Amino acid sequence: MDWPQVPIESIPPEAFVPQSCPRRQCPTHAGPDAPAFGYIRVGSYRRKCDGRRVPRFRCRVCQRGFSLQTFAVSYYLKRPELLIPIANAIVACSAHRQTARSLGCAASTVSRQAARIGRHAITFLTRMLAALPGLDEAVVYDHFESFASSQYFPLGLGTAYLHDSRLLLSVDLAPHRRTGKMSPRQKARRDQLEKSYGKPSPRAYEQALSETLDRLMPKVPKNKNLRLVTDDHAQYATAVARHPHSERIEHRRYANPPRGPKGSPRSEEALARDRAMATADHAHQFLRHSLSHQRRETIAFARRHNSLAEQLITHGVWLNYVKARRENRPREGTRAMHAGLTDEPWSWERIFARRLQPFEVDLPPTWQRVYCRRLPFPSHLEVKPHALKNAF
Ligand SMILES: [Zn+2]
Repeated sequence: MDWPQVPIESIPPEAFVPQSCPRRQCPTHAGPDAPAFGYIRVGSYRRKCDGRRVPRFRCRVCQRGFSLQTFAVSYYLKRPELLIPIANAIVACSAHRQTARSLGCAASTVSRQAARIGRHAITFLTRMLAALPGLDEAVVYDHFESFASSQYFPLGLGTAYLHDSRLLLSVDLAPHRRTGKMSPRQKARRDQLEKSYGKPSPRAYEQALSETLDRLMPKVPKNKNLRLVTDDHAQYATAVARHPHSERIEHRRYANPPRGPKGSPRSEEALARDRAMATADHAHQFLRHSLSHQRRETIAFARRHNSLAEQLITHGVWLNYVKARRENRPREGTRAMHAGLTDEPWSWERIFARRLQPFEVDLPPTWQRVYCRRLPFPSHLEVKPHALKNAF
């Protein structure tokens, strides 16, 4: 994967050379016949938070100004030194307020920086998918169930993992109705909330898998089929059958067989299902262990579907690039190494080496909505979209 070794902020001001215009409206991004990018240096400024001198530039084509910071993940930040500790805290199961207490900052600072890390993770995962040499391994797909605000707003997070490398490839969202056992009072409350805020699509799981397949099919070599492993959720079969490339998808479905009381031996059927789905099962178990709001019986639950998606993708980037593929065998390397993307384990410093703008990586529509914080549920909460003019 083509990615800088040294963070942009560590490059001396006089040595930094911008490679392209960071403004998405600039004519230099208009395709193969676009004018070539050129720039002029226009002095520098001293950054208040860390005293660094930051060089300024002007694009020769669109005449708009920018600086070295425009290419850094720490753009606009007053406390850039918190970015890596916050990223570490997210994947170490700390809630925002706990993190704020240990870092000596406001909880809102943690929430804002966590959202920024999430946005970077989304563009980074898109770049990773583009860099993936080709999809030769089987893909294990399953939904991870969570909720935001209250259990009346559940969200299925459709995760796709490579079977052997265990690399997280994609996350898609399936907001659905509250299901399971409910008292008559709870049912009435659900109906009342649905009247006020709308009902999620009954085909959410199908749509989520369909979007994942759209993203993965271009990576499958032309003469090969995609081997997809899922459980027997009826909407998965529909998504595969309705997909334009359905004839190139070998779909293996494993039913979730009834299980006896805890500790009872598993049936042959259950063993086969567990073997096939182990990659997703282990990853989901690890998610419950690593993200504060995904624990059972917690008061640290997420407030928005958007932040659930951001943090799951942040966790996915860390899982793929930083964490050892097998906890007790760090020398075997990371999931990204196993999948042929990198040749050494990375750190958060390396992941934050440069900022990726959404227009650079061609974000898929669902991920664009997550990036801009425009997911519709729970719609009763005031969700401030990420809509700063020069921030994307
Ligand atoms: Zn320009």
